[in-house]
Amino acid sequence: MHVIYGGTFDPVHHGHLRLAVELKERLGVAALSLVPCHIPPHRDDPGATSDDRLALLRLAIDGEDGLAVDERELRRGGASYTAETLRQLRATLGDEEPLVMVVGTDAFAGFDRWRDWQAIPELAHIVVIARPGVELPPEGVPAGLIRARGCRSVAELHQAPCGRILPLELPLLDISATGIRERIAAGRSPRYLLPDRVWQEIRARRLYRASQGGEGGKAVKQPLINS
Ligand code: ATP
Repeated sequence: MHVIYGGTFDPVHHGHLRLAVELKERLGVAALSLVPCHIPPHRDDPGATSDDRLALLRLAIDGEDGLAVDERELRRGGASYTAETLRQLRATLGDEEPLVMVVGTDAFAGFDRWRDWQAIPELAHIVVIARPGVELPPEGVPAGLIRARGCRSVAELHQAPCGRILPLELPLLDISATGIRERIAAGRSPRYLLPDRVWQEIRARRLYRASQGGEGGKAVKQPLINS
């Protein structure tokens, strides 16, 4: 079974990393691929470049054999469409191997706005992780898909190559990349929300600081960030 977990990872944090480890264990796979997107089609542009986000992600998983970075969306360039990523993977894996994509309820709530979303269940299973405070609306395409294709056990994912949707509750950390970016821009410390090596690299690359071109083009004085 091949499992992918996509995101902007702007920047990667302990919420992502813990989820990846919990998932790997719950799904019973030896490895899981993190897939950073290049240009996310459904949200604002990332606060850091693709190269920066990739470098941070690589640092975060360095030394952890069970996690890998799949760079295909960055190499492909342009908007990152999941259906295209899954087609590429399916071509490599063949027709029989179970392929699983993981999304949080926040991302899955807008599933029917994804390019070519109807093709996705024909290519992969979907594991939907319940994020606290983000309920799926009871009506609408995502809830309908769960009614039609929902399954209850991981074993059912192993029995077919694609087409099933497994809602999962896992222990999650209440951390968001938005909160980290906001802290850094405000000169506050995001320490312990993300790996120290990632935070060091963010400082070395001077990422996520408040924009230098403030009102009237005046440079904004940066607060000192310790730690
Ligand atoms: P942002 O705050 O910029 O929206 P984010 O922290 O939600 O970022 P993304 O890169 O957008 O991170 O998320 C990628 C995937 O990880 C999504 O499916 C999202 O639901 C999930 N995710 C994000 N944060 C967490 C967390 N703390 N625990 C579990 N899953 C998370």
